Amino acid sequence: MYLESFQLKGKNALVTGSRRGLGAAIAVALAEAGANVGCHGRDRDPGASCEAVSAAGRKTFYFSGDLANAKTCTALFEKTIAEFGSLDILVNNAGAIHRAPAAEYPMESWDELIAVDLTAVFRLSQLAGRHMLQRGTGGKIVNIASLLSFQGGVFVPAYAAAKGGIAQLTKALANEWASKGINVNAIAPGYMATDNTTALRADPVRSRQLLERIPAARWGEPKDIAGAALYLCSSASDYVHGHVLAVDGGWLGR
Ligand code: NAP
Repeated sequence: MYLESFQLKGKNALVTGSRRGLGAAIAVALAEAGANVGCHGRDRDPGASCEAVSAAGRKTFYFSGDLANAKTCTALFEKTIAEFGSLDILVNNAGAIHRAPAAEYPMESWDELIAVDLTAVFRLSQLAGRHMLQRGTGGKIVNIASLLSFQGGVFVPAYAAAKGGIAQLTKALANEWASKGINVNAIAPGYMATDNTTALRADPVRSRQLLERIPAARWGEPKDIAGAALYLCSSASDYVHGHVLAVDGGWLGR
């Protein structure tokens, strides 16, 4: 009875930034649970995610485009509706990071980071939310936040500002849409071994310092996110609204 609530049969999902990293693991998890999954990346090369979704027996498509561009957000949403007919689950996963000391931080990087990591999340949530409200069948929106939704980090001022904004945006949207059956929640991944953290992992001092502080004593893997994403995208989480779920090997508790 309870296991059934994790099923996503007949649901249509879109996962941004799903051609690699955490997004790829989330896309495959949703497909294995029964959802059709639209995949997206900035690169024209679709990567392996669509093949994995197809191998799970679900419908899929790949759409490439830079989410810093408002028109790309609209086109991605419209493509999803054209392919699947409706959208039940939106995972705002795409995100970038730029590291530099605040005193030298280029304003172009600030503008780009805020556009991709925060503004695009609102644009896509607004498009998906309107659609879900009109249909009246509810839906699930999951934003990928960060430990820097809670902490300031070092050398990543735009990323910390954007991810802090994601936690607040998640709550703001949840407050408006919870009574309409739309769950808006977020996942705050800890330090995960993806391309996003290549520079950190390559720095022996930072890498050691980080590992010493992680109670689980290891970097997270993309698969570590999949269960949390599946939970927040399924009816198992129907009474969970505006929550930021840390999947961080215990980092925040330390
Ligand atoms: P990743 O391996 O670098 O993948 C990022 C994905 O986002 C890629 O598919 C990329 O597309 C897409 N993307 C980046 N900039 C884009 C843009 N301007 N327009 C459209 N798509 C764009 O990173 P990840 O570690 O999986 O990160 C996924 C999410 O988790 C991000 O929001 C990140 O901030 C968050 N996060 C990661 C960690 C971590 O430790 N890894 C920790 C906390 C939060 P392409 O593949 O085409 O380049």
